[in-house]
Amino acid sequence: MDIFEKTHQFTAAKEAIKEGYYPYFIPLNENEGTEVVYKGHRLIMCGSNNYLGLTTHPKVREAAMEAIRRYGTSCTGSRFLNGTLEMHEELERRLAKWVKKEAALVFSTGMQANLGAVSAIVGRGDYVILDKDDHASIVDGARLSFGEIARFRHNDVTHLEKVLQSLPESAGKLVVVDGVFSMGGDLALLKEMVPVCQKYGARLMVDDAHGMGVMGGGRGTAEELGVTAQVDLIMSTFSKSFASLGGFIAGDEDVVHYIKHHARSLIFSASIPPANAAAALAALEIMEQEPERVQRVIHIGKKMKKSFEEMGYNTGNSQTPIIPIIIGDDQKTFFFWKALFEAGVFVNPVISPAVPPGMQLLRTSYMATHTDEQLDQVLEIFYQIGKQMAII
Ligand code: PMP
Repeated sequence: MDIFEKTHQFTAAKEAIKEGYYPYFIPLNENEGTEVVYKGHRLIMCGSNNYLGLTTHPKVREAAMEAIRRYGTSCTGSRFLNGTLEMHEELERRLAKWVKKEAALVFSTGMQANLGAVSAIVGRGDYVILDKDDHASIVDGARLSFGEIARFRHNDVTHLEKVLQSLPESAGKLVVVDGVFSMGGDLALLKEMVPVCQKYGARLMVDDAHGMGVMGGGRGTAEELGVTAQVDLIMSTFSKSFASLGGFIAGDEDVVHYIKHHARSLIFSASIPPANAAAALAALEIMEQEPERVQRVIHIGKKMKKSFEEMGYNTGNSQTPIIPIIIGDDQKTFFFWKALFEAGVFVNPVISPAVPPGMQLLRTSYMATHTDEQLDQVLEIFYQIGKQMAII
């Protein structure tokens, strides 16, 4: 049996490309934040995680360029050996302070932060307990660990308690949830989870990739829900509000020190490049100095959700600037995506298995830098196409 046989059988994506309904890996040749260009066709970007619009901020651009001038383009080695700059440590100190934890550790991506932290902490005989909608990088971190994996129904605290109850009392337990769920835009019920975790001696880790910079005045979902001190580990990424690439984990000094010396994705991979670290630092500084950006993206999220609902769209349980438009059918979702794309709106179609059947959706997300005119145009286009396709 040729191990490549499956690659010849994999035709679904090729067929979609041929038919012109392939919505992934779209190569853009201009990207100025709220507007992008594909083959000369200008679109309003409603599918990015650039929540604060900082990827094009002059201070962030300049910080990245200055870092290249000063340190070059790469650290060419792991944090563990030759790849640590003072700037990495400054970034860690500033992040720890921002999320109100003793220490933070920077990884080269958010994916690597989850892979490294979860697999370092969850050892043989331990349990890692996941929400069924957790991000793939958490699931993969759990799979890499030597512990056992248990799951509970999405945001179902009663089920979480049942699962915890069923595990051996003496075993180490780590519950890991997204702070803001990346597809639905809903918040983890952290306030309700904290006492349940405490009752069963479980530690709680929150992946706040989509909450950091947006919720809790920019400090994240735990801060928004008033449980920062009770959440043991806060993880986030630089690839969204921080306008860069990288990730971090924050918590108690000893725990972060342990992860630093056990996370294989940190030790055996090159450190975040100078430009990316500098961009994240500059973005953090802007978050501290310009709280109006956070207020603006929250305001936009509320306005868009309300407008979509008034038109008759199903936007699920979103409480953030991620607003799903639930269509409930693969083909309709692709047709809708294509009509929007041609009309000049970029969104992300999400079909099963990424979401359960019946929950196929268009993921829309917003930035503090979207203008009211752009948003009105997006709403108008959604209204026209939704009517034409009899979705509303
Ligand atoms: N966690 C969540 C919830 C995410 O959405 C993502 C990225 N989509 C990641 C982790 C991984 O982050 P990164 O892009 O920095 O690898």
